[in-house]
Amino acid sequence: MPLTPAQTDRAIGALLGSAAGDALGAGYEFGPPLPDDQPVHMAGGGSFDWEPGEWTDDTSMAVPIAQVLADGGSLDDEACLDRIVAAWSQWALTATDIGVQTSTLLDALPEPTAAAARRQAAEHYAANPRHAGGNGTLMRTGPVALGYLGDGREDALAAAARAVSDLTHGDPDAGDACVLWSLAVRHAVREGVVDLTAQLAWLPADRRARWAAVIAEAEESQPADFAKNGWVVQALQGAWSALHHGADLVDVLERAVRGGRDTDTVAAIAGALAGAAHGAAAVPAEWRQKLHGWPGLDADGLADLAVRAVGGGPGAA
Ligand SMILES: [Mg+2]
Repeated sequence: MPLTPAQTDRAIGALLGSAAGDALGAGYEFGPPLPDDQPVHMAGGGSFDWEPGEWTDDTSMAVPIAQVLADGGSLDDEACLDRIVAAWSQWALTATDIGVQTSTLLDALPEPTAAAARRQAAEHYAANPRHAGGNGTLMRTGPVALGYLGDGREDALAAAARAVSDLTHGDPDAGDACVLWSLAVRHAVREGVVDLTAQLAWLPADRRARWAAVIAEAEESQPADFAKNGWVVQALQGAWSALHHGADLVDVLERAVRGGRDTDTVAAIAGALAGAAHGAAAVPAEWRQKLHGWPGLDADGLADLAVRAVGGGPGAA
């Protein structure tokens, strides 16, 4: 669908906002919650000694999804999902911060195909039903919506978000969270407003009440209240709490980081939706100048990917 300049800016914002949250939180990962008045800086450091502005696995795993869409691919095409899994496998060879669930899965893949990954993720969930709901798919779901911005594409987006989640995580909680968040990103890019509750309609009917309660609890709480934010449900709650209480994109991302623990991921999740609502223009220039990471991209590279992913073509921004 032809986008207005404001919608294009918000599509770019979905990628840049997420990458900014990721890089902002990178230096604080595994740390405790921070006081409300403590300044938060995009200074790198942390357990993996990140460079200032360097993004982590959250953005690195999102990039291949955006690349497939930018090349005109579709996420219901098995060959495109194969390409994503192959790119993740390549990235994992040199990645330092890869999540436990994703690392275990990619290391054990007999071949880097979507079918092998999906099968292995399902088997892992069957064997570990209480410990297979990591946040590693919600963190990378931001770009999925960019391929489904047209009218009446909600069902197709819900299926795509779940399909991409299922590649590494068999727990339906992970898929549900990606469906909710991706639909909210789509709505935000189209309309310029955030509405998570309205997206419950695209979940299986028997799970909507549970997720409505999850959302309501987040709105009554602060990000730091969700200490188990390595779990996809509490990661979504931490991100949603930051969005719900935050005044603008910077405030949302700082709140997400001050929540502590899996700071980069909660801020990356929050940033995808905040960026989709507020647009790339809301990402401070100081952050844009610093942003960079695998596979050798910077903020301009991410923006170009986003424009191509929504069908804007080279130079449309
Ligand atoms: Mg990370």
